[in-house]
Amino acid sequence: MDSTTVSPDPQRVAIVTGAARGIGAAVARRLSSDGFSVAVLDLDDGACAPTVEAVDSAGGRALGVGVDVADGPSVQAAVDRVAAELGPPTVLVNNAGITRDNLLFKMSEDDWDAVLRVHLRGAFLMSKAAQAHMAKNGWGRIVNLSSTSALGNRGQANYAAAKAGMQGFTKTLAIELGRFGVTVNAIAPGFIVTDMTAQTAERLGVSFEDFQAARAAETPVPRVGTPEDIAHAVSFFVSEGASFVSGQVLYVAGGPRA
Ligand code: NAP
Repeated sequence: MDSTTVSPDPQRVAIVTGAARGIGAAVARRLSSDGFSVAVLDLDDGACAPTVEAVDSAGGRALGVGVDVADGPSVQAAVDRVAAELGPPTVLVNNAGITRDNLLFKMSEDDWDAVLRVHLRGAFLMSKAAQAHMAKNGWGRIVNLSSTSALGNRGQANYAAAKAGMQGFTKTLAIELGRFGVTVNAIAPGFIVTDMTAQTAERLGVSFEDFQAARAAETPVPRVGTPEDIAHAVSFFVSEGASFVSGQVLYVAGGPRA
């Protein structure tokens, strides 16, 4: 090889889905500061620009890619593009998510399907496409975003089912992929300040400030969570030192449960 050619490090390319904002954006910034080239995936590639710019301006390397994680051809094209432009992805953070909250008797079939589609079908398709690169490299990390809602949450039958499903998905992939040097873990956040929780406050008709104060008051560590709290846990799971930690669910919620 020409000594001036820069070859991408096959173990240092990470994909973060839903990384245009919120938790995903913080995870992308953190993985970049940990030394990864980061693919910033979200529905609209234009919306990825602020995260890409934040990584670039901190001296990292990022690529924004528009993708619907629940669409098979779109997922394969996105993973192929990451492999071609950044190098084979060996870290995947399945973070993209939506809520469509309602009490069961008012929940539409569309709202049920939409939530399961993004969280579960999305994580399935992304993991299936990315693990091919990880298995080939003999090293990989998958981190799935679950939630304390997996334990049950009023108005979230669809979301709770999806987030509990993410835990079973995580444990099964850990069993299947361990022999290839790939660990698979889940993080179950409590209340984190993002657009998602701001929308919940709006739907409930309370100010976001009052909503946060109420949630902080009922949390053993008396504050609300930040996207950086979750990014820190992701950083641990993808680290070399966590290579014997697999199939686990880490609640990052300021206490043992929501
Ligand atoms: P967020 O601010 O709403 O960000 C989610 C991102 O995912 C958005 O940019 C969204 O794009 C994107 N997305 C949605 N559907 C997608 C799809 N089909 N393909 C690609 N991208 C898609 O949410 P967040 O609060 O950061 O949450 C991130 C993850 O943590 C989610 O899985 C969520 O369920 C989980 N979580 C959050 C909390 C919390 O308190 N915030 C607690 C527990 C778990 P659009 O904006 O275009 O829709």
